[in-house]
Amino acid sequence: MQNIWNNALTRIRERLSEQTFSTWIAPMALREVTDEAAVLEVPNSFFEDWIRNNYMPMLREAMSEVTGVEMDIRLVIGESRAIETELPDLPDRRFQKTRPSCEYHSRLNPKYTFASFIVGSSNQLPHAASIAIASQLGTKYNPLFVYGGVGLGKTHLLHAIGNHILSRNPDMRIYYLSAEEFMNEYVASVRTYKMDAFREKFRASCDVLLIDDIQFIAGKEQTQEEFFYTFNALYGMNKQIVLTSDKYPQEIPDLEERLRSRFQWGLIADIQVPEMETRLAILKRKAEDERIPLPDDVALFLATSIKNNVRELEGSLINLAAHASLENHPIDLDFATRTLKKVVALRDSALTVDRIQHEVCRHFNVNLEDLTGARRHRSIAFPRQVAMYLCRKGLNASYPEIGNRFGGKDHTTAMAACRKIEQQIHRDAAMRGKIEALERLLGF
Ligand code: ADP
Ligand code: MG
Repeated sequence: MQNIWNNALTRIRERLSEQTFSTWIAPMALREVTDEAAVLEVPNSFFEDWIRNNYMPMLREAMSEVTGVEMDIRLVIGESRAIETELPDLPDRRFQKTRPSCEYHSRLNPKYTFASFIVGSSNQLPHAASIAIASQLGTKYNPLFVYGGVGLGKTHLLHAIGNHILSRNPDMRIYYLSAEEFMNEYVASVRTYKMDAFREKFRASCDVLLIDDIQFIAGKEQTQEEFFYTFNALYGMNKQIVLTSDKYPQEIPDLEERLRSRFQWGLIADIQVPEMETRLAILKRKAEDERIPLPDDVALFLATSIKNNVRELEGSLINLAAHASLENHPIDLDFATRTLKKVVALRDSALTVDRIQHEVCRHFNVNLEDLTGARRHRSIAFPRQVAMYLCRKGLNASYPEIGNRFGGKDHTTAMAACRKIEQQIHRDAAMRGKIEALERLLGF
């Protein structure tokens, strides 16, 4: 069966861009083939819709070609779905009858739009999900939960959703605020006996609630309780809720279970660290916007030096431009290298893919060319898998990035390697000991 699917994948891949393929097609798995239908597993309902609307004919054709029989495609949602079947509590209806009287206000930053957001495979899914919900509110993916590391564009996307909705429906009452601001407003309302107004505002007079950095409510019991009722009221009225977080719901400490499960009712979309092309595109866009002359080699240098944080990436460009104008010096590679030495020095002392590859080569006595090459003999494939696993674990590198750094391999290869090592560690204590020793050597 895996063979059938692999063959079908090969065909599909020829027809799609690498980015589209890795975002939408690679995450699917073939579960079953019957006489007339192939059953494909997709990660969630968002995927299901997306595949249904965009790729069904292509999938049908590829499967029919490979198997030689006309084949229907059925989609099923895999694994993590169970939690979504839990029924929502009834919303708090007390406040729905009151007429909205609260001033609607919006603190959306007009700079953060979909148009100014650069899309790459690291953020294609949350971007597509954001557009989907902004175009069709409250009905599909509610809540949308966007999570990802610092400086990767969560706030940008949240504003973009708000701006997009507002541009189409100027009457919409959209609230954008951080979880911290939500708490402050709540506390102030309690103190000044204005809870009715607070509830009126957030439960009855709100059409779209955009809450940034929801992880902040960890451990704030009263705020969690209030947010729980806010959530229920809005959800019950089909009002769109979007949350961002730097942690996955399961990883937010001291969060009430009932909130945790609600965060998973809709769609969870994660933003990954942007790949090289995306970093370059972001830099070039920023340089254009700020009218900074940015030669290609300098852009490449910046994008290579700063990988994990778009804010820092943009900051480095602004910093460089400031120095250049202060010292009246053109921005060239030499100047950029000197100016950014500090940043780069920091990076070099830290754990890097290079260091991991180097240590693994030494440990297994193989050379770097083989480690990043295509040979599949076990004597080399195994160290390669270990190195990939260590990059994932130690650097939290994305699969596409790992693939890239190992001679331009596909992200599915990196993913498979990491899984394989994980399984072996699980099964084999001796193996676990070896890998842990390597980890200690690398300092993580
Ligand atoms: P987060 O909320 O995840 O910490 P932000 O949304 O504040 O990150 O993004 C940090 C900066 O990087 C912002 O200036 C944002 O506009 C910019 N940025 C992040 N991702 C992108 C992207 N894909 N395209 C354009 N700009 C981006
Ligand atoms: Mg943010």
